[in-house]
Amino acid sequence: MKITYSIIAPIYNEKDNLPELHRRVTEVMNSTGETWELVLVDDGSTDGSTDILRNLAKADSHIRPVIFARNFGHQVAVTAGLDYSRGDAVVVIDADLQDPPELILEMAKKWKEGYEVVYAVRAEREGESWFKLWTASLFYRLISRITDVNIPLDTGDFRLMDRKVVRVMNQMRERHRFLRGMSAWVGFKQIGVDYKRAARVAGETKYPFRKMFRLALNAITGFSYFPLQVATYFGFVSAGLAILAIPVVVYLRASGSQAFFGQASTLIAVLFLGGVQLISLGILGEYIGRLYDEAKGRPLYIVREAPEDQ
Ligand code: UDP
Ligand code: MG
Repeated sequence: MKITYSIIAPIYNEKDNLPELHRRVTEVMNSTGETWELVLVDDGSTDGSTDILRNLAKADSHIRPVIFARNFGHQVAVTAGLDYSRGDAVVVIDADLQDPPELILEMAKKWKEGYEVVYAVRAEREGESWFKLWTASLFYRLISRITDVNIPLDTGDFRLMDRKVVRVMNQMRERHRFLRGMSAWVGFKQIGVDYKRAARVAGETKYPFRKMFRLALNAITGFSYFPLQVATYFGFVSAGLAILAIPVVVYLRASGSQAFFGQASTLIAVLFLGGVQLISLGILGEYIGRLYDEAKGRPLYIVREAPEDQ
């Protein structure tokens, strides 16, 4: 059977959201009158979501369950969803219903007009802490400053992608993934639609600061050399300052001044440069670690139960 729409939702401990997600997606997708499937990727849930997912799949043939052997993270779960999806248009959505499934209809309209990526722009966000809003806003602006790809501001992974785009994305097997960057990088005809991001229906965020920080690092290292170049700039600036300082110090000594005598100034200079060097090493380490992960070539994820008809 030919499938028009694939809806992908990653699931990590979302037992209270699953039935509601299923209900709302079903309602919206049935109203299109076209064929659809709901690819639910269980990312190593430990709260019983897996059983709920299995039962839902038994009762409704629209559901395509992919169950991971352990938690691999949100971006990898969505990747698996893309791999297992079969629709002509693929929609990525969060399982906690912060992204309203009703918006899919608007996205589908744009898709039918010929757009190949329709991303949802968070015009408003409800039920988030000021810290999350502030760091998120800073993050989107930083990324657009230092990377070469035009990643639209304030967009998450909630988007519709044409099969053509998904085919290209599925060939990009990098391990440290930043999907919204990748889907901007591929090009094609892209457009945004505004929406109001709701609060979570149930449960807590699965993106603590630690994971957000990781995602931000993946975004920066995945799409820019900027952090590596900072070390170069810094090197030139401090070398330049040092050269300028030589005649100044010679002059001061010759004129009998006591400035720059003693250990304090030496200590400060050594500690400062030592710190800068260690930070630069750490940045280098981030890139080398990623290189090492790529070289190992392990699978991106391990599936315990795949849909039967794959
Ligand atoms: N998620 C996942 N694996 C993880 C963390 C999150 O599959 O390791 C899923 C989660 O179940 C949800 C989506 O990713 O469907 C977005 O997560 P969350 O709502 O916690 O992020 P936030 O909206 O707070 O940024
Ligand atoms: Mg959420």
